[in-house]
Amino acid sequence: MTRLRASGASDVGRVRVINEDRFFVGDDLFVVCDGLGGHQAGEIASQTAVETLRSAFVDRTTEGLVAAVERANHAVWELARDRSEMRGMGTTLIAAALVEDSELPQLAVVNVGDSRAYLFQRDELIQVSEDHSLVEEMVREGRLTSEEAHVHPQRSVITRALGLGPEVEVDRFELLPLAGDRLVLCSDGLTNEVPDNRIAATLRRLADPTEVAAELVRLAREGGGSDNITVVVVDVDDDDDRAGEASRALSAESADPGTTRAAARPKTSRSEDRRGPTAGADGAASAAPGAATSTAGAATSTAGAASATTGRGRRITWRVIGFVTLVLAVLAIAVGAVGWYARHTFYVGIDDRSGRVAIFRGQPGGVLWFHPTIDQRTSLAASDVPPDRLRTVRSGQAEPTLAAAQRYVTGLRQEAATLAHR
Ligand code: MG
Repeated sequence: MTRLRASGASDVGRVRVINEDRFFVGDDLFVVCDGLGGHQAGEIASQTAVETLRSAFVDRTTEGLVAAVERANHAVWELARDRSEMRGMGTTLIAAALVEDSELPQLAVVNVGDSRAYLFQRDELIQVSEDHSLVEEMVREGRLTSEEAHVHPQRSVITRALGLGPEVEVDRFELLPLAGDRLVLCSDGLTNEVPDNRIAATLRRLADPTEVAAELVRLAREGGGSDNITVVVVDVDDDDDRAGEASRALSAESADPGTTRAAARPKTSRSEDRRGPTAGADGAASAAPGAATSTAGAATSTAGAASATTGRGRRITWRVIGFVTLVLAVLAIAVGAVGWYARHTFYVGIDDRSGRVAIFRGQPGGVLWFHPTIDQRTSLAASDVPPDRLRTVRSGQAEPTLAAAQRYVTGLRQEAATLAHR
């Protein structure tokens, strides 16, 4: 069974007055939302998104999670549409959930906006989600380096958010949870202040997810705290022996860890300035429910089937096996088709060793590693081939069947005989 242990923390930061971030830590659902829009609308957007996602996430699959995000988007959009004081509000959303898509439990990650999901695995920090922000798009297009993006004045402009329209495009990722893996969900208040290597160092140093969340928030404040900061840490605590058995059975074959990431790469669609009102006292009291550190604590989840794996160096899903099998099958069919084509066609050419016309099996010059072979030799000398045909015969006169090639040779003989009798 897959057991998760999670904790989250949120802080208003050192500049803002209101904490517009919201988060949720459940048994098998984890959410961070970063609201945008002035006059407290941002916090309503993020709060609405979290609540709607929680209640709408009934179908415990990746598709079910995506559908719940779409419901959350619609809920925020309706509020913004119907209430003039909330017009233009929106929110980012990053969420992870243990889902039951296949025999193996999966951690589904969904994303809209620039809040992030990181996977800390085998001592390495990997960014799972892709930011929907102006600067990240420029980085992807090669117009900006990561370093430039980090200090770019428009680094907070996001290109996708919940609540901006009746529909939203949701990125989804699936991870195979392995014991020892740590997932970090966070708002940009963390990533704008704390570089990845410090996040990784904190995950390396502190074992308890509550301590990690609190420490990352502290580091973001120390780094400037110019925005609300929210961090959720999800540890995969999987010490079930059946999981080990499954792992050993599967570890006969290894796979690249990257193959377990089924990343959607949709295009970004819209732009929205997320800067809300700033200014205010350092760490002013925030009434946000997420302002205090909260934790799932001892509540360890027991969702998922007994087929998780603890093999740190090896991981493979049935999906990967199916995909590899499909690729091999397609390759085999392609090679077979080329082979058939190469071996079941004929041409009339010159056998250089005897200087006589011959019927070859294959294609002139060969196809891939299928070289032509002589199928029938003839007594017709190259020097007897009518001059106007010689060039064609030298380069190989292709014929669909052996009989057609034989007819062509017969034609050559008759022409040669006609010429000889003139
Ligand atoms: Mg933010």
